[in-house]
Amino acid sequence: MFKLWPFKGGLRLPAHKQESSLAPLQSMPLPKQLIYPLVQGNGSISQPLVKAGERVLKGQVLNSTEEWSIPLIHAASSGWVIGIQALPLIQPSGMDGPCIVLEVDGLDESVEFNSFADYRTVETKVLLDKIHQAGIVGLGGASFPTAIKLDPPKPHRIDTLVLNGAECEPYITCDDSLLRHFSKEVLSGANILMHIIGVNDCLLAVEDEMQESIAALETAQSKGDFGHIHIVAVPTVYPTGGERQLIQLLTGREVPAGGIPAEIGVVCHNVATAVAVHQAITDGEPLLSRMVTVTGQGVRNPQNLLARIGTPIAELIEVCGGYTDCVQSLIMGGPMMGLALPSDAMPVTKATNCVLVAGQDEVMVDKQAMPCIRCGDCASVCPVELLPQQLYWHVRADQLERAMEYHLPDCIECGCCDVVCPSHIPLVQHFRSAKTTVARREQEKAKADHARLRYDARNARKLNEQMEKAEATKRKRELLTKMAENHKSG
Ligand code: SF4
Ligand code: SF4
Repeated sequence: MFKLWPFKGGLRLPAHKQESSLAPLQSMPLPKQLIYPLVQGNGSISQPLVKAGERVLKGQVLNSTEEWSIPLIHAASSGWVIGIQALPLIQPSGMDGPCIVLEVDGLDESVEFNSFADYRTVETKVLLDKIHQAGIVGLGGASFPTAIKLDPPKPHRIDTLVLNGAECEPYITCDDSLLRHFSKEVLSGANILMHIIGVNDCLLAVEDEMQESIAALETAQSKGDFGHIHIVAVPTVYPTGGERQLIQLLTGREVPAGGIPAEIGVVCHNVATAVAVHQAITDGEPLLSRMVTVTGQGVRNPQNLLARIGTPIAELIEVCGGYTDCVQSLIMGGPMMGLALPSDAMPVTKATNCVLVAGQDEVMVDKQAMPCIRCGDCASVCPVELLPQQLYWHVRADQLERAMEYHLPDCIECGCCDVVCPSHIPLVQHFRSAKTTVARREQEKAKADHARLRYDARNARKLNEQMEKAEATKRKRELLTKMAENHKSG
């Protein structure tokens, strides 16, 4: 029995997993169009490498970047660039941003993919560059560039790889499906990740209710060289799949506030990221597709789909039999942390783990908020051990400095406090907007500080010039006086 260190708080939520997990996995047919936002999930913006009218091949890079912090985008099939247009982005701001639009030509012609015969003989920095070149980001939803996460700052000594297959948010089953159908690839990806970060230990967390996934992994493990990967069944409690919560549960170590897991010797990746790394290193394939759960009362046949990145969500809904009469809203992600989608014309991105086509009972309906009765229920479920009622009090009063003292940035926006609040206060909404305000004020302050520094430097330079000028005039006068005196005495 593997020892666990449970974190405080969290909730057991109705799972709603079977709706999608019982249906067979299906690969999406080739879409008619592919759409690639140049503003990516982590907010980074890149320049297009292609122009309207150009033909591209499957696997061809579409954007230009030298930096690992900006992920590369690849065409998921061959076709023609029909434009670079401003289209709505899947972001909380709901703003438009530039997108490359491809018309798929149906030929699915590919560039040549180059892999390594034996990755163990390849230098780490070459493997990391390959992962960057393959456009791999965290596929759990955060979209952080994988190559950067695999190359933590040097003072940190890493001893453990955590693979996150604890898909704790209700409705989402894409990782469960991936673990059942691609268990060997998950384990192979784990081996490559361990080789890159130089560790001998991998903890692969799977929720205890995902019994089929656990069985598939154990079968794959018995057939290969995967003995040093520990498959750990973790309790089905939300938000066990949160990076910090999972690391604490598995290792007993706490990621410091504002810090990264590498500071406590851990690197954590999602199981789908491990499969993408396996495909890049052993098959040479960049990240072209991902598993997406399409579920909810608003879609006829909920299921998991293997979809090309860039596919419009409307095409996924169509493959799932279309909308039912009770569709209420579209959400990317789950009901707890998902983002509302304004339309189904938006594409599958690297962050799209789930499309929840929610019926009326499946989303938290905005109820009339009432005054806080100080019951403390929110604090008892907070997995970060915050005091949500205190935070709320300071945020409401615009006392953001006090909210910072109560660790506002540590809130992971899991929504547990919202679920239990008897006064129906939309706490997360308040915390999210307070964080945005803090970030904006910090940006404005940094800008003002920068402008003040420039102004002071300009004034100092002017003063210096004036003093130098006065000094030169004085020296000139003294010289002239001296010359006049010499002239008189001569
Ligand atoms: S949303 Fe934030 S404050 Fe509320 S329970 Fe989650 S971490 Fe705690
Ligand atoms: S759960 Fe709601 S009512 Fe209770 S203390 Fe928290 S904010 Fe106040």
